[in-house]
Amino acid sequence: MKVGIVGAGMVGSAAGYAMALTGAASRIVLVDRDAALATAQAQDIAHAVPFASAASVEAGDYAALSGADVVILSAGVGQKPGESRLALLTRNAAVFEAVIGAVRAAAPDAILLVATNPVDIMTHVATRLSGLAPGRVIGSGTILDTARFRSLLAGHLGLAPHSVHAYVLGEHGDSEVLGWSGARVGSEPLASVAAQLGAAITADVRARIDEGVRGAAYRIIEGKGATNYGIGAGLARIVQAIGRDEQAVLSVSVVTQEAAGVRDVALSLPRVVGAGGVSATLTPTLDTAETEALGASARLLRETADALDL
Ligand code: ADP
Repeated sequence: MKVGIVGAGMVGSAAGYAMALTGAASRIVLVDRDAALATAQAQDIAHAVPFASAASVEAGDYAALSGADVVILSAGVGQKPGESRLALLTRNAAVFEAVIGAVRAAAPDAILLVATNPVDIMTHVATRLSGLAPGRVIGSGTILDTARFRSLLAGHLGLAPHSVHAYVLGEHGDSEVLGWSGARVGSEPLASVAAQLGAAITADVRARIDEGVRGAAYRIIEGKGATNYGIGAGLARIVQAIGRDEQAVLSVSVVTQEAAGVRDVALSLPRVVGAGGVSATLTPTLDTAETEALGASARLLRETADALDL
Protein backbone atom coordinates (compact mmCIF):
# COMPACT_ATOMS: atom_id res chain seq x y z
CA MET A 1 0.00 0.00 0.00
CA LYS A 2 1.63 3.23 -1.17
CA VAL A 3 0.36 6.41 0.46
CA GLY A 4 1.29 9.95 -0.46
CA ILE A 5 0.92 12.89 1.88
CA VAL A 6 0.74 16.39 0.42
CA GLY A 7 1.31 18.87 3.24
CA ALA A 8 3.96 17.61 5.65
CA GLY A 9 3.00 19.93 8.51
CA MET A 10 1.57 18.98 11.89
CA VAL A 11 -1.31 16.87 10.58
CA GLY A 12 0.42 15.31 7.56
CA SER A 13 3.48 14.26 9.55
CA ALA A 14 1.35 12.81 12.36
CA ALA A 15 -0.54 10.76 9.77
CA GLY A 16 2.77 9.51 8.35
CA TYR A 17 4.02 8.61 11.82
CA ALA A 18 0.78 6.80 12.71
CA MET A 19 0.89 4.84 9.43
CA ALA A 20 4.51 3.86 10.03
CA LEU A 21 3.74 2.66 13.56
CA THR A 22 0.58 0.75 12.67
CA GLY A 23 1.79 -0.67 9.35
CA ALA A 24 -1.21 0.87 7.55
CA ALA A 25 1.11 1.77 4.64
CA SER A 26 4.23 0.04 3.31
CA ARG A 27 5.44 3.08 1.32
CA ILE A 28 4.95 6.63 2.51
CA VAL A 29 5.91 9.67 0.41
CA LEU A 30 5.77 13.18 1.87
CA VAL A 31 5.40 16.19 -0.43
CA ASP A 32 5.36 19.83 0.67
CA ARG A 33 6.01 23.15 -1.02
CA ASP A 34 8.64 23.44 1.74
CA ALA A 35 10.86 20.60 0.46
CA ALA A 36 13.25 20.85 3.42
CA LEU A 37 10.34 20.33 5.83
CA ALA A 38 9.14 17.26 3.90
CA THR A 39 12.67 15.81 3.94
CA ALA A 40 13.11 16.41 7.67
CA GLN A 41 9.72 14.92 8.53
CA ALA A 42 10.37 11.87 6.33
CA GLN A 43 13.74 11.25 7.98
CA ASP A 44 12.32 11.64 11.47
CA ILE A 45 9.45 9.21 10.73
CA ALA A 46 11.86 6.79 9.00
CA HIS A 47 13.88 6.61 12.22
CA ALA A 48 10.80 5.18 13.98
CA VAL A 49 10.56 2.33 11.47
CA PRO A 50 13.15 0.02 13.13
CA PHE A 51 10.90 0.07 16.20
CA ALA A 52 7.71 -0.49 14.23
CA SER A 53 6.58 -1.74 10.82
CA ALA A 54 8.74 -2.27 7.73
CA ALA A 55 7.52 0.84 5.88
CA SER A 56 9.73 2.89 3.56
CA VAL A 57 9.40 6.63 4.23
CA GLU A 58 10.72 9.28 1.86
CA ALA A 59 10.18 12.85 0.72
CA GLY A 60 9.68 13.69 -2.92
CA ASP A 61 8.03 15.85 -5.52
CA TYR A 62 4.66 15.16 -7.11
CA ALA A 63 6.17 12.66 -9.55
CA ALA A 64 7.13 10.50 -6.54
CA LEU A 65 3.40 9.98 -5.90
CA SER A 66 3.19 7.79 -9.01
CA GLY A 67 1.43 4.51 -8.19
CA ALA A 68 0.01 5.78 -4.88
CA ASP A 69 -3.15 4.00 -3.75
CA VAL A 70 -4.16 6.85 -1.46
CA VAL A 71 -3.02 10.47 -1.28
CA ILE A 72 -3.70 12.36 1.94
CA LEU A 73 -4.31 16.07 1.35
CA SER A 74 -3.18 17.98 4.42
CA ALA A 75 -1.79 21.07 2.69
CA GLY A 76 -3.21 24.40 3.69
CA VAL A 77 -2.53 27.92 4.82
CA GLY A 78 -3.19 29.38 8.27
CA GLN A 79 -5.67 32.14 9.06
CA LYS A 80 -4.16 35.65 8.82
CA PRO A 81 -5.04 38.10 11.62
CA GLY A 82 -8.45 39.62 10.87
CA GLU A 83 -9.05 37.32 7.91
CA SER A 84 -12.61 36.07 7.47
CA ARG A 85 -13.38 32.36 7.38
CA LEU A 86 -14.55 32.69 3.80
CA ALA A 87 -11.37 34.49 2.71
CA LEU A 88 -9.30 31.74 4.31
CA LEU A 89 -11.43 29.15 2.59
CA THR A 90 -10.93 30.83 -0.76
CA ARG A 91 -7.15 30.74 -0.25
CA ASN A 92 -7.23 27.07 0.76
CA ALA A 93 -9.40 26.27 -2.26
CA ALA A 94 -6.69 27.91 -4.41
CA VAL A 95 -4.06 25.70 -2.73
CA PHE A 96 -6.17 22.64 -3.60
CA GLU A 97 -6.53 23.76 -7.20
CA ALA A 98 -2.76 23.57 -7.67
CA VAL A 99 -2.27 20.48 -5.53
CA ILE A 100 -5.09 18.33 -6.94
CA GLY A 101 -4.08 18.91 -10.55
CA ALA A 102 -0.55 17.76 -9.76
CA VAL A 103 -1.70 14.78 -7.68
CA ARG A 104 -4.15 13.61 -10.35
CA ALA A 105 -1.46 13.84 -13.04
CA ALA A 106 1.00 11.76 -10.98
CA ALA A 107 -1.41 9.29 -9.37
CA PRO A 108 -4.63 9.13 -11.40
CA ASP A 109 -5.89 6.01 -9.63
CA ALA A 110 -5.36 7.24 -6.07
CA ILE A 111 -8.19 7.71 -3.60
CA LEU A 112 -7.99 11.22 -2.13
CA LEU A 113 -8.20 11.52 1.64
CA VAL A 114 -8.82 15.13 2.67
CA ALA A 115 -7.66 16.41 6.06
CA THR A 116 -7.32 20.17 5.48
CA ASN A 117 -9.88 22.22 7.41
CA PRO A 118 -12.69 23.11 7.14
CA VAL A 119 -12.61 19.50 6.06
CA ASP A 120 -16.18 19.12 4.77
CA ILE A 121 -15.90 22.11 2.47
CA MET A 122 -12.40 21.10 1.36
CA THR A 123 -13.77 17.62 0.58
CA HIS A 124 -16.42 19.26 -1.59
CA VAL A 125 -13.73 21.39 -3.28
CA ALA A 126 -11.53 18.32 -3.87
CA THR A 127 -14.42 16.32 -5.31
CA ARG A 128 -15.25 19.10 -7.76
CA LEU A 129 -11.64 19.76 -8.78
CA SER A 130 -10.68 16.12 -9.18
CA GLY A 131 -13.72 14.98 -11.16
CA LEU A 132 -13.53 11.70 -9.21
CA ALA A 133 -16.62 9.83 -8.07
CA PRO A 134 -17.66 11.12 -4.62
CA GLY A 135 -16.80 7.84 -2.86
CA ARG A 136 -13.16 8.20 -3.95
CA VAL A 137 -12.72 11.59 -2.28
CA ILE A 138 -13.04 11.04 1.45
CA GLY A 139 -12.79 13.70 4.15
CA SER A 140 -11.63 12.72 7.63
CA GLY A 141 -14.82 14.48 8.75
CA THR A 142 -15.95 13.50 12.21
CA ILE A 143 -13.77 10.41 12.57
CA LEU A 144 -11.91 12.19 15.37
CA ASP A 145 -15.04 13.66 16.99
CA THR A 146 -16.48 10.15 17.04
CA ALA A 147 -13.32 8.91 18.77
CA ARG A 148 -13.58 11.71 21.33
CA PHE A 149 -17.28 10.90 21.94
CA ARG A 150 -16.49 7.20 22.46
CA SER A 151 -13.55 7.98 24.77
CA LEU A 152 -15.60 10.27 26.99
CA LEU A 153 -18.56 7.86 27.14
CA ALA A 154 -16.22 4.97 27.88
CA GLY A 155 -14.51 6.98 30.61
CA HIS A 156 -17.86 7.68 32.25
CA LEU A 157 -18.84 3.99 32.12
CA GLY A 158 -15.40 2.66 33.06
CA LEU A 159 -15.22 0.62 29.85
CA ALA A 160 -12.97 0.43 26.79
CA PRO A 161 -13.82 2.96 24.04
CA HIS A 162 -13.65 0.07 21.55
CA SER A 163 -16.83 -1.37 23.11
CA VAL A 164 -18.76 1.89 22.68
CA HIS A 165 -20.59 2.34 19.37
CA ALA A 166 -21.70 5.88 18.81
CA TYR A 167 -21.12 8.45 16.06
CA VAL A 168 -20.72 12.17 15.68
CA LEU A 169 -22.46 13.28 12.48
CA GLY A 170 -22.70 16.31 10.20
CA GLU A 171 -20.06 19.01 10.09
CA HIS A 172 -16.60 18.53 11.62
CA GLY A 173 -17.05 21.73 13.59
CA ASP A 174 -19.40 23.66 15.83
CA SER A 175 -22.65 22.37 14.29
CA GLU A 176 -21.72 18.68 14.61
CA VAL A 177 -24.35 16.34 16.07
CA LEU A 178 -23.63 13.75 18.76
CA GLY A 179 -25.75 10.69 18.02
CA TRP A 180 -26.90 9.91 21.57
CA SER A 181 -30.11 8.13 20.65
CA GLY A 182 -28.36 5.48 18.55
CA ALA A 183 -25.45 4.92 20.98
CA ARG A 184 -24.85 1.34 22.02
CA VAL A 185 -22.38 -0.42 24.30
CA GLY A 186 -21.61 -3.95 23.23
CA SER A 187 -24.97 -4.80 21.68
CA GLU A 188 -27.05 -2.97 24.31
CA PRO A 189 -28.61 0.48 24.23
CA LEU A 190 -26.48 3.01 26.13
CA ALA A 191 -29.12 3.82 28.78
CA SER A 192 -29.51 0.16 29.70
CA VAL A 193 -25.75 -0.38 30.12
CA ALA A 194 -25.36 2.88 32.05
CA ALA A 195 -28.12 1.79 34.48
CA GLN A 196 -26.60 -1.68 34.91
CA LEU A 197 -23.21 -0.15 35.73
CA GLY A 198 -24.66 2.48 38.09
CA ALA A 199 -23.39 5.26 35.80
CA ALA A 200 -26.59 6.92 34.59
CA ILE A 201 -26.38 9.41 31.73
CA THR A 202 -27.87 12.39 33.54
CA ALA A 203 -28.45 15.75 31.87
CA ASP A 204 -25.22 16.97 33.53
CA VAL A 205 -23.19 14.02 32.24
CA ARG A 206 -24.61 14.50 28.77
CA ALA A 207 -23.83 18.22 28.78
CA ARG A 208 -20.29 17.56 30.02
CA ILE A 209 -19.60 14.97 27.32
CA ASP A 210 -21.21 17.11 24.63
CA GLU A 211 -19.00 20.05 25.59
CA GLY A 212 -16.00 17.74 25.91
CA VAL A 213 -16.37 16.60 22.31
CA ARG A 214 -17.31 19.97 20.83
CA GLY A 215 -14.66 21.94 22.72
CA ALA A 216 -11.77 19.45 22.47
CA ALA A 217 -10.02 21.05 19.51
CA TYR A 218 -10.27 24.55 21.00
CA ARG A 219 -8.69 23.41 24.27
CA ILE A 220 -5.90 21.45 22.58
CA ILE A 221 -5.09 24.36 20.24
CA GLU A 222 -4.98 26.71 23.24
CA GLY A 223 -2.46 24.42 24.92
CA LYS A 224 -0.21 23.40 21.99
CA GLY A 225 -1.21 25.47 18.96
CA ALA A 226 -2.56 22.61 16.85
CA THR A 227 -4.16 19.18 17.03
CA ASN A 228 -2.27 16.41 15.29
CA TYR A 229 -1.93 13.04 17.02
CA GLY A 230 -5.63 12.18 17.19
CA ILE A 231 -6.31 13.16 13.60
CA GLY A 232 -3.08 11.46 12.46
CA ALA A 233 -4.31 8.19 13.97
CA GLY A 234 -7.76 8.72 12.45
CA LEU A 235 -6.25 9.17 8.99
CA ALA A 236 -4.15 6.02 9.46
CA ARG A 237 -7.33 4.15 10.43
CA ILE A 238 -9.08 5.22 7.21
CA VAL A 239 -6.02 4.23 5.15
CA GLN A 240 -5.99 0.84 6.89
CA ALA A 241 -9.67 0.28 6.04
CA ILE A 242 -8.90 1.06 2.38
CA GLY A 243 -5.68 -0.99 2.26
CA ARG A 244 -7.25 -4.08 3.81
CA ASP A 245 -10.55 -3.65 1.93
CA GLU A 246 -12.23 -3.88 5.34
CA GLN A 247 -15.73 -2.58 4.58
CA ALA A 248 -15.38 -0.88 7.99
CA VAL A 249 -18.09 1.51 9.18
CA LEU A 250 -16.45 4.87 9.88
CA SER A 251 -17.87 8.39 10.22
CA VAL A 252 -16.25 10.19 7.30
CA SER A 253 -17.22 13.03 4.98
CA VAL A 254 -18.22 12.49 1.36
CA VAL A 255 -20.25 14.59 -1.07
CA THR A 256 -23.75 13.18 -0.66
CA GLN A 257 -26.67 13.54 -3.06
CA GLU A 258 -29.13 14.22 -0.28
CA ALA A 259 -28.68 14.31 3.50
CA ALA A 260 -31.19 15.54 6.09
CA GLY A 261 -33.19 17.17 3.29
CA VAL A 262 -30.17 19.02 1.85
CA ARG A 263 -28.90 18.21 -1.62
CA ASP A 264 -25.28 17.92 -2.76
CA VAL A 265 -23.49 18.43 0.53
CA ALA A 266 -20.26 17.00 2.02
CA LEU A 267 -20.73 15.88 5.62
CA SER A 268 -20.12 12.92 7.88
CA LEU A 269 -22.44 9.94 8.25
CA PRO A 270 -21.54 6.33 9.06
CA ARG A 271 -20.05 5.08 5.80
CA VAL A 272 -18.69 1.75 4.57
CA VAL A 273 -14.99 2.09 3.68
CA GLY A 274 -13.00 -0.44 1.65
CA ALA A 275 -10.56 -0.72 -1.26
CA GLY A 276 -12.73 1.36 -3.59
CA GLY A 277 -13.26 4.12 -1.03
CA VAL A 278 -16.76 4.71 0.36
CA SER A 279 -19.20 2.17 -1.09
CA ALA A 280 -22.31 2.81 1.03
CA THR A 281 -23.79 5.15 3.62
CA LEU A 282 -25.85 4.04 6.61
CA THR A 283 -28.88 5.96 7.82
CA PRO A 284 -28.38 6.53 11.54
CA THR A 285 -31.13 6.26 14.15
CA LEU A 286 -31.83 9.82 15.31
CA ASP A 287 -34.50 11.41 17.49
CA THR A 288 -36.35 14.56 16.46
CA ALA A 289 -33.86 17.00 17.96
CA GLU A 290 -30.89 15.17 16.42
CA THR A 291 -32.61 15.07 13.02
CA GLU A 292 -33.22 18.82 13.20
CA ALA A 293 -29.63 19.46 14.29
CA LEU A 294 -28.28 17.36 11.41
CA GLY A 295 -30.47 19.32 8.99
CA ALA A 296 -29.14 22.61 10.39
CA SER A 297 -25.56 21.35 10.10
CA ALA A 298 -26.12 20.25 6.50
CA ARG A 299 -27.74 23.60 5.59
CA LEU A 300 -24.79 25.49 7.10
CA LEU A 301 -22.34 23.47 4.99
CA ARG A 302 -24.46 23.93 1.87
CA GLU A 303 -24.56 27.72 2.44
CA THR A 304 -20.77 27.83 2.71
CA ALA A 305 -20.44 25.73 -0.44
CA ASP A 306 -22.82 28.16 -2.17
CA ALA A 307 -20.70 31.13 -1.04
CA LEU A 308 -17.70 29.42 -2.65
CA ASP A 309 -19.80 28.68 -5.75
CA LEU A 310 -19.34 24.91 -5.49
P1 ADP B 1 -1.73 21.62 9.96
O1 ADP B 1 -1.67 21.86 11.44
O2 ADP B 1 -3.11 21.72 9.39
O3 ADP B 1 -1.00 20.39 9.53
P2 ADP B 1 0.56 23.11 8.99
O4 ADP B 1 0.69 24.58 8.69
O5 ADP B 1 1.42 22.52 10.04
O6 ADP B 1 -0.99 22.90 9.30
O7 ADP B 1 0.78 22.29 7.64
C1 ADP B 1 0.31 22.66 6.40
C2 ADP B 1 1.40 22.35 5.39
O8 ADP B 1 0.88 22.57 4.08
C3 ADP B 1 2.64 23.21 5.55
O9 ADP B 1 3.78 22.40 5.74
C4 ADP B 1 2.72 23.97 4.19
O10 ADP B 1 4.05 24.17 3.75
C5 ADP B 1 1.96 23.03 3.28
N1 ADP B 1 1.43 23.69 2.08
C6 ADP B 1 0.76 24.86 1.98
N2 ADP B 1 0.49 25.15 0.69
C7 ADP B 1 0.98 24.13 -0.05
C8 ADP B 1 1.01 23.84 -1.44
N3 ADP B 1 0.45 24.65 -2.34
N4 ADP B 1 1.61 22.69 -1.83
C9 ADP B 1 2.16 21.86 -0.94
N5 ADP B 1 2.18 22.08 0.39
C10 ADP B 1 1.60 23.18 0.83
